[in-house]
Amino acid sequence: MSRSEALFARAQHRIPGGVNSPVRAFKGVGGTPIFFHKAQGAYIYDEDEQRYVDYVGSWGPMIIGHSHPKVLDAIRTQMDLGLSFGAPTEVEITMAEKVCELVPSMEMVRMVNSGTEATMSAIRLARGFTGRDKIVKFEGCYHGHSDSLLVKAGSGALTLGVPNSPGVPADLAKHTITLQYNDIDEVKQCFQEVGNDIACIIVEPVAGNMNCIPPVEGFLETLREVCDSSGALLIFDEVMTGFRVALGGAQEKYGITPDLTTLGKVIGAGMPVGAFGGKREVMEHISPLGPVYQAGTLSGNPIAMVAGLAALDIISEPEFHTELDRKAKYLVDGLLKAAERVGIPFHAVNAGGMFGFFFTESNAITSFKEMMSCDIERFKLFFHFMLEEGVYLAPAAYEAGFISQAHTKDDIDFTLMAAERSFKKIQSL
Ligand code: PMP
Repeated sequence: MSRSEALFARAQHRIPGGVNSPVRAFKGVGGTPIFFHKAQGAYIYDEDEQRYVDYVGSWGPMIIGHSHPKVLDAIRTQMDLGLSFGAPTEVEITMAEKVCELVPSMEMVRMVNSGTEATMSAIRLARGFTGRDKIVKFEGCYHGHSDSLLVKAGSGALTLGVPNSPGVPADLAKHTITLQYNDIDEVKQCFQEVGNDIACIIVEPVAGNMNCIPPVEGFLETLREVCDSSGALLIFDEVMTGFRVALGGAQEKYGITPDLTTLGKVIGAGMPVGAFGGKREVMEHISPLGPVYQAGTLSGNPIAMVAGLAALDIISEPEFHTELDRKAKYLVDGLLKAAERVGIPFHAVNAGGMFGFFFTESNAITSFKEMMSCDIERFKLFFHFMLEEGVYLAPAAYEAGFISQAHTKDDIDFTLMAAERSFKKIQSL
C-alpha cells in the first residue's frame, strides 16, 4: 500500500470524503488521491517521494512556481513582526494601491480570504447598489460555493453532479438566472424580458471551470452593452484569470471594462486571499462607508498581503506574461501535434497562462454543451497514464490547467513525450 493510500484511508475517518475540497477526492478520475508533502518550482512531490511536473499549481495561485524564494523571504520577515492584528496595516494599503494600478477598472478594493467570499460580497454589493435581486450567471461557470452562485455551477459541482446543491433555498436560487456561456442572443433576449430586474451579470471572462473556454467575439461586448442599457452591473470574476491571462487580467486582454472585479488565487501567492473592487461610486456602498455589510477577522492578513505583493512584483516584470503565454502555447501546440501523430481526436487551447484540452472531434469548443459531449473516459485514462509518467494534471475533465514561470522548456518537452506515450496507450486499448 502506498503512503497516499494509507493516508487517504486514515483521512476518511475524520474528514468528509477524506478531503477539504471535493475535487481533490479524485471522483472525476477514479482511484486514490495523491497526498503531497512538498513542492518546489514546477514540481510537486508526493508522500512516496514521487516527483511530478505540476500543472495544477494549487489551482492557479502558483504562477511564479512553488516556494518562490522572494515570497518565502517576505513571509519570514513579516512572521517575526506578527501573524495577524485584526487592525489596519500599511501593507494593506500597498496591496490596494498595487491592485488598482494593475487593474485600472478597480478604483477601490476590499480584501477577503477566498474567491468565494469575493464573489459573494460582490453580488451582495451589486444587489445593494441597484436595489434589485436577480442575478445572471452562465451554466458551467463556477464562482465559489455561496448560495446564490451554486446554481448550475461548474468545477467540482459539475464533477460530482450537484450543480444545484441541496441546502440552497429555492427561494434564493429563483433569483439566479442561468444562461448559456457564449450565447449572445440568449443574453439579449433575457435582458429584453427582465433587464430592469437584474442587479448584475457575473461571468468568468475566460471560463476555467468547464475546462477552458475563451469568450467568442462579441460575447463580453454584449454583456457590457446590456448592462449599460439596463443599469445592471457587470462583474468579471477574475479569481482564475486575474494576473494570469494578462497582467491586467481578462479585462485587459479583451478590452472590456467591468463595473466590479473579483480576484483570488494569484493575489495571495498560495495564501488564502481574495479581493473584490471596482468603481468608486459602487464600492462606496460597502460598510463602514455605506450600508452594504461585509467584514472579516483575518481579512487583509499581513502574511497573505506580503506574500501576494511579492508575487505581484514578480509578475509585473516586463515580458512575464508574454513568456507565460509562449510556454502555454508551446505546450498546447505540442499536445495537438502529438495527438495528431497518434491519431487521437483532440483539441487544446490556451488563454495566457491557463489552458484546456478536450478529447473531441471538434476543433473549437465554445459552449457548455459542446464541452459536455467530449470523451470523459479518454480523459480519465489520459490523466492516470500521465500520472504514471510523472505529470500531475487537474483530476477532473472540467478544470483548466495552469502553467508557471518555473516550467522550463525541458519540463514541457518531458510532458509532451509523456503525452504522446499516453495517447498511444489509449489508442491501443
Ligand atoms: N471564482 C472562480 C472563477 C474560481 O475559479 C473559483 C475557485 N476555483 C472561485 C471563484 C472560488 O474561489 P475559492 O475556491 O478561493 O473560494
